[in-house]
Amino acid sequence: MGPEALLAEVAAEARACTRCPLHRGRTQAVPGEGNPLSDVLLVGEAPGAREDASGRPFVGPAGQLLNELLASIGWAREEVFIANAVKCRPPGNRDPEASEIAACAPFLDRQEAALEPAVIVTLGRHSLARYLPQARIGQAHGTLHRSGGRFIFPMYHPAAALHQGSLRETLFADIRGLPAALLRSREALDAERAAGSAATRPDEASEPPSDADPEPAADSAEQMTLF
Ligand code: URA
Repeated sequence: MGPEALLAEVAAEARACTRCPLHRGRTQAVPGEGNPLSDVLLVGEAPGAREDASGRPFVGPAGQLLNELLASIGWAREEVFIANAVKCRPPGNRDPEASEIAACAPFLDRQEAALEPAVIVTLGRHSLARYLPQARIGQAHGTLHRSGGRFIFPMYHPAAALHQGSLRETLFADIRGLPAALLRSREALDAERAAGSAATRPDEASEPPSDADPEPAADSAEQMTLF
């Protein structure tokens, strides 16, 4: 099955999900949307009122700012894939609980597996905690990290800038680093794939050494800040 079909399967299951109590209060689940062939995955926290009503992520005021942030680097939201850690709206827009994030995690796991993103942009504390549980957003934002083989680019949640104006500038400054972070991640992953396929070639022992040595595989331990 290709990414489009896999993502559609996840979306259909999320819409019918009853794994946690949030399903009782939802109008619609919000599985995520975007380009199924993108290698950029943005992960927010949980749907708000507008998202719950429309079934689409980031369509309220925070979504408007997210669109502006993407436009500032020449990207359109249709080019990336946007999802949330939790697919149903928590009552009164409260923070998602750990049990709700855990119940919903298999959906995001499968979305990641389908997209194989070169970089995952976390929006806010809760999605950051999924990948880098020890990280503090105040330190990690705007820099590229490694977690379990994935490249993570943490950012503040756009909604935070709606409440705290000074974060708006930080968000625009941080996203300016995203295109370079994406290129860096793609290059590292390509080098690792090339090294992996060279290592598994059956006749490898008889081959002359390559003159294009890949960079050493990046440390897969958590929180390797690349720049
Ligand atoms: N905030 C989020 O984290 N996700 C949305 O989809 C909307 C607002």
